[in-house]
Amino acid sequence: MSGRGEYDVVVIGAGHAGCEAAWAAARLGRSVAICTLTPDTVAAMPCNPAVGGTAKGHLVREIDALGGLMGLAIDATGIQFKLLNRSRGPAVWSPRAQADKAQYGAWMRKALEAHPGIAWLLQPVTHVLLENGAISGVCLGDDSHIACRALIVTTGTFLNGLIHVGPEQHAAGRAGEPASTHLAESIRAIGFEMGRLKTGTPPRLRRSSIDYSGGLSRGDFTEEWGDAEPVPFSGMSDRVNDQRVACYVLHTTPRVHTLVRAHIGESPLYNGQICGIGPRYCPSLEDKVMRFPDRERHQIHLEPEGVDSPLIYVNGLSMSLPAEVQLRVVQQLPGLADAEMVRPGYAVEYDFVQPTELAATLETKRVAGLYLAGQINGTSGYEEAAAQGLVAGINAARRVAGAGPFVLARHDAYIGVLIDDLITKGCLEPYRMFTSRSEHRLLLRIDNADMRLTPAGRALGLVGDDRWTRFEERRLRYERNCQTLRSSTIQIGGDRQSVWSALRRPDVRLSSLMERGQVALDQMRGLDVESLDAAARFEGYIAREEAMVLRNRRDENRRIPEGFVYAGVPGLSHEVVHRLSHVRPVTLGQALRVPGVTPAAVAVIALHVARHRSTPDSSSGIAS
Ligand SMILES: Cc1cc2nc3c(=O)[nH]c(=O)nc-3n(C[C@H](O)[C@H](O)[C@H](O)COP(=O)(O)OP(=O)(O)OC[C@H]3O[C@@H](n4cnc5c(N)ncnc54)[C@H](O)[C@@H]3O)c2cc1C
Repeated sequence: MSGRGEYDVVVIGAGHAGCEAAWAAARLGRSVAICTLTPDTVAAMPCNPAVGGTAKGHLVREIDALGGLMGLAIDATGIQFKLLNRSRGPAVWSPRAQADKAQYGAWMRKALEAHPGIAWLLQPVTHVLLENGAISGVCLGDDSHIACRALIVTTGTFLNGLIHVGPEQHAAGRAGEPASTHLAESIRAIGFEMGRLKTGTPPRLRRSSIDYSGGLSRGDFTEEWGDAEPVPFSGMSDRVNDQRVACYVLHTTPRVHTLVRAHIGESPLYNGQICGIGPRYCPSLEDKVMRFPDRERHQIHLEPEGVDSPLIYVNGLSMSLPAEVQLRVVQQLPGLADAEMVRPGYAVEYDFVQPTELAATLETKRVAGLYLAGQINGTSGYEEAAAQGLVAGINAARRVAGAGPFVLARHDAYIGVLIDDLITKGCLEPYRMFTSRSEHRLLLRIDNADMRLTPAGRALGLVGDDRWTRFEERRLRYERNCQTLRSSTIQIGGDRQSVWSALRRPDVRLSSLMERGQVALDQMRGLDVESLDAAARFEGYIAREEAMVLRNRRDENRRIPEGFVYAGVPGLSHEVVHRLSHVRPVTLGQALRVPGVTPAAVAVIALHVARHRSTPDSSSGIAS
């Protein structure tokens, strides 16, 4: 094998996780090699041409606040933007954007290619190389090898990827790209607990074969344009780009459901051909029809894959029925009788590594210097992958530099919730983020992502001067405006009270007071008004959540000694001993979250830990 040099950090994969990982590691001054099969699929979107959505939008805002790329990329390449859940509380407001897929990948590739610290190796990686229990390098498809001090594997759906369309199946990571079989075996040989999951994608239709005006005039379709004044994802964007493209909404019919039921035996999901477990929250059409037989119709969205793309993504119609059945399903949908199917939908099964194999830094417990990020860890979604990639890139770079770990706690960010859920609970099905997964939703809003995380990004070295200056200006403006609201008064009924306390009333809105000139604030942008309104309106609830965080901090900081033997603790059930020995939580707080472990068991362990070894309290949360 010929050597091809040495890098501090090697990243396998240039998907959503790989791009953020390479960016972060290079920004932190490390030499990085990113290995991928072709530059044409950098940050590819094999499924939904969209970024964000409920809770996923929170992750994108947090990636941006730390200095990652995804928020900037979608602001530059989105074709329709919408702030979801605006009629509900600010904790669940979530930005979402349709993406121009080609522009998005090109933007991400350009950003990475512009960084001098990133080298590209357009080769499949076939093996990981270990030395004395630590990573030492990788082998490439041409039999050469590269040495590295940290390796981040972000291979998504490629490990033993297997595509299914009806009875046909073939090895592939996703449509048109080969599966990674050697690498899958090399990773399995390390001894990781692995599993098999599946996800699916709908057919693509030829955009020009659909009669939109006819569909609209017959009432088959309704049109969607997104928000007239889009809220950007990135704290660096004053506004998003100007391109806007319509989407169309239609519904399935009982006739379509009857057709699906008539062919359900030919669906790999229902005839035992697929063994991987699919994403419950992203059901295929087969699942919807079989699980909800009483539903008369299911919503479908026709989403152009870009400004000039010839393809329509049929959101909500993911299926793996035989291609000819899929075409009949499509042409039975209202308004699509003449639609042309360019590519059938498919299901893809793939290997993943149980994320309980990982530490909170996303480094594997078995091999020092080996990090895993993205769908390989059992998640589903571009945003979940990107968030993990950023954290893995930061920690791989810090490890090489001899710096301490960077860990986000559950009350710091949804990224902290994501990683803690993965490493503590593992994955029995593809994991996607929801706001309900956080017990601190009111603290983790999209409008305060920068207040929560940009200082940490600055301390890490990921946040540059331009972003920091902009953030400082926003923070000072926010504090001045809070002061103004506390010191200004307005007449409510018979009494005069501060604007700040008046905002707790459901009938008082800061935006309306500003429109009526009853209060004047500094130069507001984006979500500034909503941020101030939420801070005043929910001040009491936020204080309660912060008090809960302080109470939990004691358990979160009480470490369980490395190698602690649970079997030695009298009174613990076999199941608790087994689960804790498997997950190996690092704190009592994390032990409390291991499924099947009771507070009583943790109390017994706490006594044991205190009695047998006093260990200095660690500081979890954002690294200093
Ligand atoms: C068919 C399909 C349907 C999906 N449906 C949904 C959905 O409905 N909703 C949703 O949220 N998400 C869905 N996803 C998942 C979503 O695409 C992923 O969550 C996301 O892309 C994961 O990002 P990642 O960076 O982990 O991996 P990916 O984006 O898959 O990137 C993997 C990268 O690794 C590279 N690679 C793989 N093996 C090697 C190797 N041996 N050597 C070098 N490079 C290698 C690949 O070229 C690629 O660049 C779907 C994915 C597929 C394929």
